[in-house]
Amino acid sequence: MKFCDSIKFVPKVGEKRAGILYAELGVKSIGDMLMHFPYRYIDVRRFYLISELEDNMPYIQIKGYITAFEHKGKGRGSRLCAYFTDGSHTMELVWFAGEKFILNKYFTNTEYIVFGKPKRYGSRFTMAHPEIEIYEGINNRQDVGFKTLYHTTETMKKHYLSSSTIKGIVATILSDSDVHVPEVLPNKILQKYDLMPRQDAIVAIHLPRNQAMLTAAIRRLKFEELFFVQMSILRKYKLRVEHTDGFLMNQIGSLFNTFYKDILPFSLTEAQKRVVREIHADLKAGKQMNRLLQGDVGSGKTIVALLASLIALDNGFQASIMAPTEILATQHYKNISHLTERLGISVRLLIGSTRAKERKEIDSLLREGKIDILIGTHTLIEESVKFSNLGFVVIDEQHRFGVQQRAKLWAKNNKPPHILVMTATPIPRTLAMTLYSNLDVSVIDELPPGRKPILTYHYYDNKRSMLNAFLRQRIDNGCQVYVVYPLIQESEKLDIKNLEDGYLAMQEAFPDVEVDFLHGKMKPVEKDERMERFKQGKTKILMSTTVIEVGVDVPNASVMVIENAERFGLAQLHQLRGRVGRGSEQSYCLLMSNFKLSDYSFKRLQIMTETNNGFEIAESDLALRGPGEIEGTVQSGLPFNLKIANLAQDSNILQCARETAKEILEQDPTLSCEDNQMIASYLTLINKDNADWSEIS
Ligand code: ADP
Ligand code: MG
Repeated sequence: MKFCDSIKFVPKVGEKRAGILYAELGVKSIGDMLMHFPYRYIDVRRFYLISELEDNMPYIQIKGYITAFEHKGKGRGSRLCAYFTDGSHTMELVWFAGEKFILNKYFTNTEYIVFGKPKRYGSRFTMAHPEIEIYEGINNRQDVGFKTLYHTTETMKKHYLSSSTIKGIVATILSDSDVHVPEVLPNKILQKYDLMPRQDAIVAIHLPRNQAMLTAAIRRLKFEELFFVQMSILRKYKLRVEHTDGFLMNQIGSLFNTFYKDILPFSLTEAQKRVVREIHADLKAGKQMNRLLQGDVGSGKTIVALLASLIALDNGFQASIMAPTEILATQHYKNISHLTERLGISVRLLIGSTRAKERKEIDSLLREGKIDILIGTHTLIEESVKFSNLGFVVIDEQHRFGVQQRAKLWAKNNKPPHILVMTATPIPRTLAMTLYSNLDVSVIDELPPGRKPILTYHYYDNKRSMLNAFLRQRIDNGCQVYVVYPLIQESEKLDIKNLEDGYLAMQEAFPDVEVDFLHGKMKPVEKDERMERFKQGKTKILMSTTVIEVGVDVPNASVMVIENAERFGLAQLHQLRGRVGRGSEQSYCLLMSNFKLSDYSFKRLQIMTETNNGFEIAESDLALRGPGEIEGTVQSGLPFNLKIANLAQDSNILQCARETAKEILEQDPTLSCEDNQMIASYLTLINKDNADWSEIS
């Protein structure tokens, strides 16, 4: 077998399993299989006794016997339990599915080793869905120092491709002396950073003999991964900066000036002015702009987007503003058409629910160049939407758009339009370096004057009467209140039921106050009407699912109640909180939660009560969860799927990898030196499957 051969040639794999490995893990070749790393290592030199178990232990192993099986509970709590003893104490093994399979596979009075994470319930420890192996004496074990676990999927398990099967396949490959792992980093880099050769690293990561070798292998593979990510990004960035022509917009004309001098209802903050200047500098440079505008919720990004759009109009181009939801697009439309009324420009709204007749009209006006600013949702990127001369595109709350969708924008004119991507979810620096090093970044780090910091409190559900008393007092003061429910169940029906129950309870508690509710399943017109009543101050309490999450602006609303706050991620909590604190009134955010909180949920709520700063929150979020999970990157997908590096923990390695990549590209931009050949060919290989996302995001 050779490194590049198909995985199907490995004994016991074959055509069918090869197909499954490809579909489920993207593993095609023997080399791909070797790049599927274990996700967990369990130190198997030590067996634990049940009496030694504690809370918050890592994954561990225990040796013993199952004494009996028992089915417990009904419905959702239905489970199979096995009583497992190490000779002196007993714990429970638990399975919530696959009962028949387990009963056929495992027996009482056989000596087993169980692997898993113990969890305390009352006085007893349990282990859910443990891995189980027959114990055959200490000398017969496959694992020397560590037991490795590999990711599998349900489909894989159905075809008996379990973690231990994968381990077997990998071991077979590694024992074949014909399989050579090609090196991809030049010697000088290996030496400079004291990195293990690739072949050794791959062996050590699958079959670690000791902790030191494992650590070195992981470090080498992380470096490699981050190095190539940086290489791809930096190279494309260079190409873009050097080659992509953009529309030249060197006039500041009457639209911009009239708006700025006569219409703008407030003066810009220094940060807003700076960003407008940065954008203007790009537009008159003749290169295509790709700029990310980061600014905390309420920092005033919309007006910056409008001013920039007016520059485009002054230079004879059309502009377009895309928002992630119909509510938000509609709100932008109303705001912007109102603000620009006196400029005599044509602003139109195109969303999914736009009627066919109006849509037709918009389509033809757009082609004739009779629409200046088109505002809308995803609809705008559909192929049928054709502009006569699109020059500037704003993407609001960018994380809601996928990469491919953004790429479609490029095709809307003979040159790619300038693109301004706006986000209120600040991205931590390490992540920004990886995700966006091909974007220029502007930051609005200042809120408009006169805002009072929002006060945030966390209450357990049993304080509901206190909450109601507080709401009563605020409402009597003339304030308006949002109450937000999370998406909890799989089915939207149940979520709506939670909302409706909450609504009834609220009506009962406030019989004299107008209470209303909103959810994603309502018709856009209806949502719009209800939102409008709230804006006009008729509705005092607006309850909703997360449809109001992004961007809605009602300055008189000064209380945000978040139900089941433990169900939300930090970024989302921060977004929701940003809906209040927009007027001159003191604003409050009340996080209601269940009494039973995991450490991690508790920590999140605590962070929320401690800071209002979106950047700090983003850093904490990254530290708590790891980057793959950060909101915003989940939806749009990390452009590179990191197998081993962790942006939260590996910022040092990332820094080295980035500097190395930069140095190499400076000395040899086309990677044509003999020394850099292996880098060039590996880059080509890994970029083959990646769509060309990098131009925009
Ligand atoms: P976000 O950055 O979250 O999108 P918005 O653009 O919706 O924020 O602005 C929030 C509110 O602040 C709006 O009501 C807007 O009119 C107002 N605003 C924006 N800039 C200023 C400013 N410089 N001075 C006063 N109010 C401002
Ligand atoms: Mg906004």
